[in-house]
Amino acid sequence: MTQASSATSRTVRIHAHGGPEQLVLDTVDVGQPGPGEIRIRHHAIGLNFIDVYQRTGLYPNAMPLALGMEGAGVIEAVGDGVSHLKAGDRAAYAANPPGSYCDVRVMPAMNVCKLPDGIDFETGAAMMLKGLTAQYLLKRCRPVEGLVAGDFVLFHAAAGGVGLIACQWAKALGLQLIGTAGSDEKCALAKAHGAAHTINYRTEDFAARVKDITGGKGVKVVYDSVGKDTFDKSLDCLMPFGLMVSFGNASGPVAPFAPGLLGPKGSLYVTRQTLFTHITSRERTQEMADDLFEVVQSGAVKIRIDQRFPLTDVKTAHESLEARKTTGCTVLLP
Ligand code: NDP
Repeated sequence: MTQASSATSRTVRIHAHGGPEQLVLDTVDVGQPGPGEIRIRHHAIGLNFIDVYQRTGLYPNAMPLALGMEGAGVIEAVGDGVSHLKAGDRAAYAANPPGSYCDVRVMPAMNVCKLPDGIDFETGAAMMLKGLTAQYLLKRCRPVEGLVAGDFVLFHAAAGGVGLIACQWAKALGLQLIGTAGSDEKCALAKAHGAAHTINYRTEDFAARVKDITGGKGVKVVYDSVGKDTFDKSLDCLMPFGLMVSFGNASGPVAPFAPGLLGPKGSLYVTRQTLFTHITSRERTQEMADDLFEVVQSGAVKIRIDQRFPLTDVKTAHESLEARKTTGCTVLLP
């Protein structure tokens, strides 16, 4: 193990599930990394909607819980058995268990990747969880009939953190992404980032618009992170054998449904995905991260950070995200 003296960290934790008022800045002792672990000092921390689910208890956890699943900074020490990182390396990660809302932490090394020199810390912190999610959604969730250039796909919340990355990456892959968003300004933003078409789903019937745009055929894949408010109607947007990828619950969890309804709608496929099933090995994590680093360094995908908050103002950051006031990515600065 490489040595670094013990430290304390300002760490945002909750001691009970609830609203943003549950977020408190505690001081915790941070020890040495054990086998397979690293200690990282953050320069920037990514905010994600999953942090809200963990805070509210939609995704329950034992208390106290340090929040945050994305960050970037400098490695201070590595434990036995860690060979892909060393003290002094710049690094970034998306990882479970949570705990990135802090100055410094000890964590498993498996999902921590060396950050290429050309990518700054804020970008690294903003893009790992959201960018790896866009990566697996577009490249690893395949509809049974394949996804090729020219195909239509529907992506909800297209002006958000994952959404703006997906708009750009889909365009780079030649896909015609139809993006939904909650205001005309957000629709314009999604279009400026590569969405072929946009729909304001607060004012328009998105299923009817999808039928119009696709000449009545429907899309091959729907990527739905909004959940309760969009799931049912999204099934009506799919072509036969189309794939419904449910990957979030921003409006609330999807209600139980009868699989029998998928037959008459066109023998549809439905899957519920989570990034953390895709990054269960060091090799797969690095492979997906390399793909993300490449598309970002090529300029095909730009990581747009529209909100920056000091770590001490984490409550405002959560309130803004939940109130649909944010676009693109948000970072917390220690
Ligand atoms: P976003 O920046 O996309 O913020 C969420 C967006 O959801 C809002 O800006 C809003 O956009 C839209 N939304 C629709 N209805 C509501 C509602 N009732 N309350 C709040 N927001 C609503 O967040 P992220 O980029 O962090 O994540 C996007 C989604 O992807 C989240 O649902 C997240 O949980 C999910 N996710 C899932 C992963 C997985 O592997 N399963 C991994 C990463 C993210 P608008 O106003 O345009 O409707």
